[in-house]
Amino acid sequence: MNVIMKFGGTSVADAEAMTRVIDIVRQQLARHPNHKPPVVVVSAMSKVTDRLVETGRLAGDRQAGQAAQVVGDLLARHVAVAASLVHGEALDALTALLTQDFTELAGQVREWAAHGDVSPRSTDALLAMGELASSRMVAAAFAAQQIPCVWVDSRRVLVTDSDHTSAVPDIDATCARTRSLVGAERDAGRIPVMGGFIGATADGVTTTLGRGGSDYSAAIFGACLDVDEIQIWTDVDGMLTADPRVVAGPRLVPQLSFAEASELAYFGAKVLHPSTILPAVAKNIPVRILNSRRPEVKGTMITAEGRGAAGELTALACKRGVTVIDITSTRMLMAHGFLRRLFEVFERFKISVDVVTTSEVSVSVTVDNTRRLDDVISNLRKFAEVNVERDMAIVCLVGENLRADATLFGRAVTSLEKVPLRLVSQAASRRNITFVLRDADVPDAMNSLHDRFFTASVAS
Ligand code: ASP
Ligand code: MG
Repeated sequence: MNVIMKFGGTSVADAEAMTRVIDIVRQQLARHPNHKPPVVVVSAMSKVTDRLVETGRLAGDRQAGQAAQVVGDLLARHVAVAASLVHGEALDALTALLTQDFTELAGQVREWAAHGDVSPRSTDALLAMGELASSRMVAAAFAAQQIPCVWVDSRRVLVTDSDHTSAVPDIDATCARTRSLVGAERDAGRIPVMGGFIGATADGVTTTLGRGGSDYSAAIFGACLDVDEIQIWTDVDGMLTADPRVVAGPRLVPQLSFAEASELAYFGAKVLHPSTILPAVAKNIPVRILNSRRPEVKGTMITAEGRGAAGELTALACKRGVTVIDITSTRMLMAHGFLRRLFEVFERFKISVDVVTTSEVSVSVTVDNTRRLDDVISNLRKFAEVNVERDMAIVCLVGENLRADATLFGRAVTSLEKVPLRLVSQAASRRNITFVLRDADVPDAMNSLHDRFFTASVAS
């Protein structure tokens, strides 16, 4: 097994968490003694990026003292964690490095604050500190446990354009460097430890990939190295069959397709953002979500194809508090251009429409953003009758099997026989069925569906 192991912010939040990371990696080494060691990618310690963002905001507001104070607090937090993981000369060296980096940063922050201006380029230099520090610490912690490793500066590996704070990787250049710099270390038996989220332009100016970008870094490095699996270690067991706040005892989804994960992500199943793992999925590399607090749990595997014909539905999702808008045109009935005119109104007010259903005389849409809804309605009323219904919800059934098993739709509707359904839609992908119903009915609807499709039939 040739793997990349990416540990998110909560998995490196403190000395205990970092110790768990060491144990997890040690077990990986023990299980596959004859394989190349894994590549380890880490996020900043949890909340560090948020605090760095805050630092930038304070500097922009000319609050030099407060901004420098946050940087000082961050240094203290890192040094304290380092002290419980590393000892002796190695600790002195690590503390000196952290102190130097954060002190230098505090100096820059004061300068930015003096001008009240933090450019995107400066913001990247600021934000990169989180991953630079955490990756150095994890590398030092491995070394303290006599695990052969090497810290690799991701800025030498991940080449991006200069679109600061949401830089776009140059995959070819990055792959060339990943193979030569990261692959070579791994081939020599050392664990490369790297920060996610950060890179640099071809000229060496520090960049970042956008918030949450370390999954993306891991997927890119994994794709470049053609690993067998990319592991995303986080603080939940994986994807669940339903939101635990709505359904009692949801199950872990053992495996799902990339497309299913994308459908679910839209409903706030925020374990990871599927688009960030696209480079891996495109190369058919499975991505596994794992819990660093419960490493024995199998987790959820995301693959290009999913789990095939076995179970029934893959998961349920819901979005609460949506608004349904019915737009009926008598005058313009069947007139061409009606839909364009209608959607132009939503576009003008930058409101995105979720579910759309149509009949001969009316179009119904759902929106979850009621900001500027009054403007939308008054503009729609210029050419149609409009009826608005608030406190509605979307319940969505996701599963590749919907394509193969035509009876699933009917069985889903039957299990909801006691719930008034307002709109129903099945998209062309036939990977999901969407019901729009009253928000108050969500718990009933979700539990009925979950009982019908998960509790009885799917083994966990
Ligand atoms: N540390 C960065 C963030 O919080 C990147 C990441 O964790 O993925 O957004
Ligand atoms: Mg994350």
